Amino acid sequence: MARVQLKHVYKRYSSDVAAVKDFDLDIQDKEFLVLVGPSGCGKTTTLRMIAGLEDISDGELWIGDRLVNDVHPKDRDIAMVFQNYALYSHMSIYENMAFGLKMRKVPKAEIDARVREAASILDIEHLLNRKPKALSGGQRQRVALGRAIVREPQVFLMDEPLSNLDAKLRVQMRAEIAKLHHRLQTTVIYVTHDQTEAMTMGTRIVVMKDGIIQQVGTPQEIYNRPDNMFVASFIGSPAMNFLRGSLQEEGDDIYFRAQSVNISIPKHRHAILREAGVVGQAVVLGIRPENLHDDQVQQQGTYGAQVTAAVEVVELLGAESYVYLNVQGQTLIARVPARSEIRAGSTATLSIDTENLHIFHAETEQTIY
Ligand code: ATP
Repeated sequence: MARVQLKHVYKRYSSDVAAVKDFDLDIQDKEFLVLVGPSGCGKTTTLRMIAGLEDISDGELWIGDRLVNDVHPKDRDIAMVFQNYALYSHMSIYENMAFGLKMRKVPKAEIDARVREAASILDIEHLLNRKPKALSGGQRQRVALGRAIVREPQVFLMDEPLSNLDAKLRVQMRAEIAKLHHRLQTTVIYVTHDQTEAMTMGTRIVVMKDGIIQQVGTPQEIYNRPDNMFVASFIGSPAMNFLRGSLQEEGDDIYFRAQSVNISIPKHRHAILREAGVVGQAVVLGIRPENLHDDQVQQQGTYGAQVTAAVEVVELLGAESYVYLNVQGQTLIARVPARSEIRAGSTATLSIDTENLHIFHAETEQTIY
């Protein structure tokens, strides 16, 4: 069992500031858990506490059924893969992969079998006699993974393992690590600041900010039902659009209004808005870029509203384009098919998919729906 539990864990590097605050999470056996957030949010600190490379200031850490707060890193049955690979330059790839096992006095024949099996899984058998400097970045990354695999740990910890690779290799290794997880069936805790890595690799994602967990959920939950504006804007690319305005009631209808924008809110959302006490109040409307449609080239659905605005920029990405609209000083990005004929410098009208809007409290920035 490689369940990892963090119970109200804190890390204070100095007496006044906590780098990690009240981190409380139950990581299930075989889960691929991704910690994601901007620089300085405490994700590396959390991983290093699990590894035993940092002391825990407060709270409990359990791996399997053992309380490991005071257990030495080498006795925690974990293996860590670092961003800079941390290979020994004077050793061959074989020796690099064998080193940890040798230190643990594993018999030579078993070391050999484990190194060759890991090399075969990672397709690096032909590199075993080389030194690290004779390897490409991607190959070094595979060796770093191989060195972790041979240990057959209960838990893999990975700290931004792909950040030194070029974009193409990163995409390739992303899939390789996901495949590896599937094959090894062990718990992986993976740190990244890249929301795409989090979305594509994680079975669950933990979004952090300022040392505090903002939300825990599957990629779909985090994307479709973000708990607050920070999560809504951090996950998704281009980021969710926000429009500041207010909710106004007219007869049986509730409208979101922001200068020239006037959006009728679907009836089935009225109760939740009334309950939250925000009708008549300032709110923030969230619209994902894919929920702004160019009706000339996209299926005309039951989109309840439209926005007409000046087009500032159109970025062609191949299959799709990003259209930057200026709605009286607030920028909205629409993601439309590349065959759209919307041009920079013109005025465009786009439909808004009102079934997929988000509404946030203007002050607390928490989600209403
Ligand atoms: P990054 O993506 O930039 O690595 P991170 O989310 O991993 O960021 P941490 O490295 O965990 O963030 O840092 C969290 C906070 O703790 C930061 O404010 C950082 O400055 C602080 N911090 C990290 N290590 C130490 C240390 N050894 N001593 C004092 N403060 C530290």
